[in-house]
Order: sequence, then C-alpha cells, then structure tokens
Amino acid sequence: MDYQSIINEIAQEVSPLLVSGKVADYIPALAGVNPNQFAMTLTLFDGTQFSVGQADKLFSIQSISKVFTFTLALKFYRSALYQRIGIEPSGNSFNSIVQLEYEHGKPRNPFINAGAINITDSLINYYGADEHATEEILEFIRLLADDGSIDRDCVVALSEMEHGFRNLSLANLMKSFDNLDNPVEDVVNTYFRHCAIEMNTKMLSRAMLYLANDGLDPITGIKHISESQSKRINAVMLTCGHYDASGEFAFNVGLPGKSGVGGGIVAVVPNLMSISVWSPGLNENGNSLAGTKALELFTTKTGLSIF
Ligand code: GLU
Repeated sequence: MDYQSIINEIAQEVSPLLVSGKVADYIPALAGVNPNQFAMTLTLFDGTQFSVGQADKLFSIQSISKVFTFTLALKFYRSALYQRIGIEPSGNSFNSIVQLEYEHGKPRNPFINAGAINITDSLINYYGADEHATEEILEFIRLLADDGSIDRDCVVALSEMEHGFRNLSLANLMKSFDNLDNPVEDVVNTYFRHCAIEMNTKMLSRAMLYLANDGLDPITGIKHISESQSKRINAVMLTCGHYDASGEFAFNVGLPGKSGVGGGIVAVVPNLMSISVWSPGLNENGNSLAGTKALELFTTKTGLSIF
C-alpha cells in the first residue's frame, strides 16, 4: 500500500477543518498555540516512517502520557492495580467529581483524570519519591521512543498547577477515601509534569509500537510488558481513550487510541503499525478535530481497523 500518498491525500482533505477547532484554553501556555497546524506519522515494525505536515514540531502530549503511566503501573503491580482503579468507561466528563464521590474514591479507569492521578500515586510509591517518579516516567518514554532528547515543558507544568483546582479536588477526594498514599500536592505535581512532556508525531508514533506488537518493541527487541497486559491497555484505549467520545471514535475510526488536549492522538493497528496525528484545534469533546477526521479517513481508505 502506498502509505505516503494516502496520508498526503488525508492532509489535503482535513485542511479545511484546521481553523474550525478550538485550541485548549484552560491554561495560558496552551491557549497560545496556533490551531492552523497538522501532522501525521505512521511507523512500521521495521522502523520505516511515513509523515506528512509538521511532524517535527513538538507539542504537549497531555493525556497521551496516561498510556505510558498505565503501562508502567501495570508492569509493576499487575492485577493488584485494579484494587485502586477500575476499567469501565466513565460515561461522565473526564474530570467528574460527582462520580468519584458515588464510587467511594475508586476511579472508573486509568484515563480519566482521577484514574491517571491515582496511577501516578502508585508510581511514586514504586519509585519512592515524586521527583524520582517524574524522571523515571520520562526515561521510560525516551526508551519507548528511542529518543533521549524528549523532555517536559516546565512552564506548562507550573501553569497547570496554578490552575489545577479540580485535579487537586479529585486527589483530595481520593485521599479522603484512603485511595491515595502520597501527599496530594506531590501526586498532582507529578501528574502535571508527565502531562507536560513534549513530543512530535514521529516520536509518539515510534513510542507506541510496543502496543501494536503484544508488548514487544519490534525494533529494539525489548519486551516492555506481557501480551496480556498489552491486550488490556489496547482494550482500555478503545473503550476509554477519547473522553466522552470514545464510542464515537471506536465507531468512526475502529482502532485503539488515546487523545490529549494538546491536540495529539495516538492509535494502534495491531500487528502492523502505530500512528500519531496532531492538530491543536479540538472538537466539543476535547479531541483533535482534524486529527480524529484524519484517522477516520485513514481506516476508511486503507480498510485497516480492528473490526
Ligand atoms: N493536564 C490535563 C488536565 O488534567 C490533561 C488534559 C488532557 O489531555 O486530558 O487537566
């Protein structure tokens, strides 16, 4: 298949959508991003990449980082992790406090904010200190992407903390239910630091390859997680990866994936490739407008989906 022509065509087709999305504006550091940008990268198992658009431009990966922290926590705690968090779609907004109260401080899944904050807490337990956990999460992402240059944007992380009232509330609520071990500020700070990691579509697409290949990086040969753990992460991406539009994404795209408010989306074609798209203008559900459409066009044009 001529992947390069296909993604060139997609970039053309989504270009009218770039100005229709709305850039995340809950913190000034993200509100200033120019919406008129698009990139898409496919990575095959031999490392061949096909890119279109601004594939070298770094952006804030935000909630996509939750895939990597979930991976680490699952690797360390295995099924014991599910004592702290569930695996059901929330059917509520990704930062709902009401649901967490009803469900006694146990977050629905690892991708809503409460779940990801809880996972960060488990990683601080494992690594022993919040700064250490931040560094280890970053190191893990560098290993997955095979790129030591990946770093976080400290301005974004600080700005998140200054405006982080709701996430601090979620963490406090979990703490009140005895489902958070470390000091609230340390956990939320660490959570914001991993959300503030910057990558481009080439790096992200490369980093996700292990989830297309049963937990094994096909290029380095490193077995990051078991086949069963990889299956579970893909399942949670399919059912919970796109905020309140996860059903719609499964319906229109048909691939496991995860999006972030920075406008990035990653997706996995099992046994074949991983994909990353980026366009900062978001739709009403907080997913990249042009990015979601690009993935839908990709699976339509290629017939590659899990269904
Ligand atoms: N740092 C963001 C928050 O917790 C994550 C946003 C996202 O990508 O969902 O508000």
